[in-house]
Amino acid sequence: MSTRQKRYFLAESEIPTEWYNIQADMVNKPMPPLNPATKEPLKAEDLFPIFAEELARQELNQQDPWIHIPEPVRDMYKYYRSTPLVRAYGLEEALGTPAHIYFKNESVSPVGSHKLNSALAQAYYNKEQGVTNITTETGAGQWGAALSYAAKVFGLECAVYQVKISYNQKPYRRSIMQTFGATVEASPSMSTRAGKDVLTVDPNNQGSLGTAISEAIELAISTPNCKYTLGSVLSHVSLHQSIIGLEAEKQMAMAGEYPDMVIACFGGGSNFGGIAFPFMRHNLKDGKQTRFIAAEPASCPKLTRGQFQYDFGDLAGYTPLLPMFTLGHNFMPANIHAGGLRYHGAGTIVSQLLKDGLMEAVDIKQSDSFKAGVLFARSEGIIPAPESCHAIAAAIQEANKCTATGEEKVILFNLSGHGLIDMSAYDQYLAGNLQDYEVTDEEVARNLAQLEKVI
Ligand SMILES: *Cc1c(COP(=O)(O)O)cnc(C)c1O
Repeated sequence: MSTRQKRYFLAESEIPTEWYNIQADMVNKPMPPLNPATKEPLKAEDLFPIFAEELARQELNQQDPWIHIPEPVRDMYKYYRSTPLVRAYGLEEALGTPAHIYFKNESVSPVGSHKLNSALAQAYYNKEQGVTNITTETGAGQWGAALSYAAKVFGLECAVYQVKISYNQKPYRRSIMQTFGATVEASPSMSTRAGKDVLTVDPNNQGSLGTAISEAIELAISTPNCKYTLGSVLSHVSLHQSIIGLEAEKQMAMAGEYPDMVIACFGGGSNFGGIAFPFMRHNLKDGKQTRFIAAEPASCPKLTRGQFQYDFGDLAGYTPLLPMFTLGHNFMPANIHAGGLRYHGAGTIVSQLLKDGLMEAVDIKQSDSFKAGVLFARSEGIIPAPESCHAIAAAIQEANKCTATGEEKVILFNLSGHGLIDMSAYDQYLAGNLQDYEVTDEEVARNLAQLEKVI
């Protein structure tokens, strides 16, 4: 048997000391978020009622390519970073491909996903500012778990609105959040106006990230010394996640290779941006021609079939208007198991990059994602999160193309999390009970037609 796995780690001193802000290097910058009432571009101050001030400044920072990682955050990173970069010999062998496949394993974080990279930063900046309480939404529960832990680390109270379908289907994620000391409520709830509005029309509504975001923002605005946090979509979240790609860049150099393709699954874009942007800077600045591929679910295809326009980030319309690829903020995605990918829109940076042809997107059916996940588990010994399975499926598609052409391309994908708390989803797949959901063009068009056209 050949070498099954080779893993690359960085010494503590090699862990990056700065995050990378791709906005500074983009030729076409993302268009500004707009105040929904006046349609004027937002200033950082406009975001201060909702977000910690430093996070609001990072959100709109289009000047500074490098941003210092505060020492207390970097100290916490050392608990689990560097995460391993792994040469997936087992998967290569199972596929019989000449491609060299690498994955960055973010599942080794204390909460099992990449989400902690930004949760620690967000909790830190809130604490620094004297905030005492933070709120958020969570779908499958990964972000909620990460934030609950980060809040505990920095001594903050944390309240989480969890999408109701996940709250009921994934009780262990709720237990994890509660174990870290957070309070968790199923969304839509009766505790906010946004939640009540949804339940009045549809008492059996199973929730969506859009609704849960509205509820969390409402709580933040109406509670003294309380701020809202978001685990994806926003530019400051991809900034914090750039630690993934910056480490991977050094680790790929240790392996003596450079990726021809960088692949990640796509919910709002934070793990994709995290692994992709540090490599993309060499496309922007040094003439590299790496391909960047975002893998989204066929049931929630904003990148492949959505429209680029200004839209809200939440259902009730509390957020600024963001320029993004969207299916419409009123889109209710099917109840797929990859809860972290059930979001109607994409971050503004990724949306601009996609519009400019600097990256690509593919959509993956639920059954194909689990098929890829099971093959990966059997060849690499890690059960991937249902979200991550989409990246694996896209990487396998590319590796199979190499098999057909005989090309030894270098493929790097991000393993955003493990699936050990998602075994009921695997149960259903293995029992042959998993459904594929695809959205019709009519549904997409009908939904987008309801949006107000700005610019
Ligand atoms: C939340 C989550 C995602 C999707 O979010 P992005 O912001 O698009 O990265 C993907 N994988 C896992 C494991 C997640 O928890």
